[in-house]
Amino acid sequence: MYIDVHAHIDSKEFDQDRDAIVNECEITIVNAGVDLESNLRSLELEKKYKNIIAAVGFHPEFIKDKENEIEKCLELTNNAKIISEIGLDYYWIKDSELRKKQIKILSLFLERAEKHRKTAIIHVRGGMNDLLSLLPSYKVRFAIHAYEGSIRDAKRIVDLGGLISVPPVLIRDKYRQEVVKEIDLDYLVTETDSPFLGPEKYIRNKPCNVSLTIKKISELKKIEEKEVIQRIRKNFEEKILP
Ligand SMILES: [Zn+2]
Repeated sequence: MYIDVHAHIDSKEFDQDRDAIVNECEITIVNAGVDLESNLRSLELEKKYKNIIAAVGFHPEFIKDKENEIEKCLELTNNAKIISEIGLDYYWIKDSELRKKQIKILSLFLERAEKHRKTAIIHVRGGMNDLLSLLPSYKVRFAIHAYEGSIRDAKRIVDLGGLISVPPVLIRDKYRQEVVKEIDLDYLVTETDSPFLGPEKYIRNKPCNVSLTIKKISELKKIEEKEVIQRIRKNFEEKILP
């Protein structure tokens, strides 16, 4: 059974065929909410599909336009098993005051994660140093979603007990392949970020593309696919949803 620790199945790209996509293969999918409405949809999906787990958060990209939703999103984390999507995005947000705000908001969600012993699945684009100085202040289980950093930072994350989450774009991304080679399988999980980050550019991604990531990890690490699947499930069960 596959694991997708980060997808956006509630997005409109799946309105036509959501049932088929969710049931296409044996898979557990964590659906990440990005704002108030999508958090609510995420919780609905968990009710509807037995293989979907709702995550609730606030995407750092929305800091400009949706700040008024944050309080409610924080409250909604009470209804979810996992906290996501949260994080720092310095790729889209260049303004230093807004970046500071992102750090502040991330801290609020991490506090919740610590207090309620929930795993945080974290988005980070460009803000790795700030993230790495923030994380040691919280006793939280966490994974870095669609990790795109260096091998060195990946090792720092592992040292903090975090997991590195790998999307199917791995099959065409030499840089991510090097990271996967270097990081022990005990610290890897799979995701898709569907409908984004697919194995082919401009084509909608879907959870069952995890199979492509598994195949590539197996090839890179010279470990049989079956074992890769089992060990990633084990990582998920022990470190994300214990
Ligand atoms: Zn995402």
